[in-house]
Amino acid sequence: MNERTNGAAPLTLAPIQILGDVTGGTGDATTEAVAMRRTELGGESRVLIVGSGPAGLTAALYAARANLEPIVLGGYVTGGQLMITSDVENFPGFPEGIQGPELMQRMRAQAERFGARIVDVDVDRVDFSSRPFRLWAAGAEYRAQSVIVASGASAIWLGLGNEARLRGRGVSACATCDGFFFRDRKVLVVGGGDSALEEASYLTKFAGEVVMIHRRDEFRGSKIMRERVLANPKVRVIWNSQVVDVLGEEHVSGARLRDTVTGSETEEPTDGLFIAIGHKPNTEVFTGWLDVGEKGYLKVYDETRTNIEGVFVAGDVHDHRYRQAITAAGDGCKAAIDAERWLEAQGIAEAMTASAW
Ligand code: NAP
Repeated sequence: MNERTNGAAPLTLAPIQILGDVTGGTGDATTEAVAMRRTELGGESRVLIVGSGPAGLTAALYAARANLEPIVLGGYVTGGQLMITSDVENFPGFPEGIQGPELMQRMRAQAERFGARIVDVDVDRVDFSSRPFRLWAAGAEYRAQSVIVASGASAIWLGLGNEARLRGRGVSACATCDGFFFRDRKVLVVGGGDSALEEASYLTKFAGEVVMIHRRDEFRGSKIMRERVLANPKVRVIWNSQVVDVLGEEHVSGARLRDTVTGSETEEPTDGLFIAIGHKPNTEVFTGWLDVGEKGYLKVYDETRTNIEGVFVAGDVHDHRYRQAITAAGDGCKAAIDAERWLEAQGIAEAMTASAW
């Protein structure tokens, strides 16, 4: 038995509150809830983790079990993209599948059980010029000897004026958050990747009709998802079409589509418009400090390192290739092990043997 399990608190699943809207849902932060979260802000740690998706929480679990007492700055919308994912059928250990929010709740409880301190705030600013590294969030300062950046990625929007105006009034990037409001209604889903296919599939549980709008004549998503969606009698696909405007005054009433082959335009009536065209890495706060690659994702050196010694990276903020919960979790594990070994080399953490993990 690993001695680090001794004395750990029993596993409890506290409900996660979802505040704010950075991932595409329509929820609003309440000042009361934010004030409650501010009661315990600021602090110093040997490992500070930015992000509370699978990468951040796995890093927190490993760092906590290495007695590093990590602080996790998890974001106002805690839990990352899986909080807006419905059925997760490809995370090992759940043969019947698991809902994304429940999986994240369980990861969080597991990290907290071993002593990780999770604060649901967004990082506003960092100073990585010297150690301890300094980070500011919700007006408080955090200092850390090492940092693991696991800030993930966020939904991309089409960038149309009326899309922004009608967000929360029929426009959404989160079927799990908003699908319920479209019972027996018609919805459009924009995109042709796995996200769009997954959103469309989920929406068939509520909507009377789901129309996918894709700019090409074949889906990019995986074979199993393509087949599942195309076999669903509630789904219709409009190929070679781009949404060029969103129609409606108080609420979405339709979308203007442009045929990408002929250039002709038509109007498609709808009650809802779900955008599922991919994600962008959440790197803004690290601009000027951490190297980014050509697609805007953080650059990684030697598995988990960044260009700044003592700052490590994990998950979707650097990974535009796999972007899976399981790969992000694996990344978080690697980053925590590398951070601990680096802290040992600096004489900041006690040496652990590799077998102790
Ligand atoms: P993606 O694979 O990049 O697909 C984005 C889709 O949106 C593409 O079909 C693209 O069209 C379309 N698109 C992009 N910009 C557009 C625009 N401005 N207007 C209209 N359409 C636009 O992104 P994703 O679907 O979010 O998937 C990302 C990664 O996560 C993939 O590796 C995917 O396999 C993985 N994923 C896996 C699961 C799962 O396994 N359950 C679920 C979700 C995501 P084109 O095809 O023409 O480029």
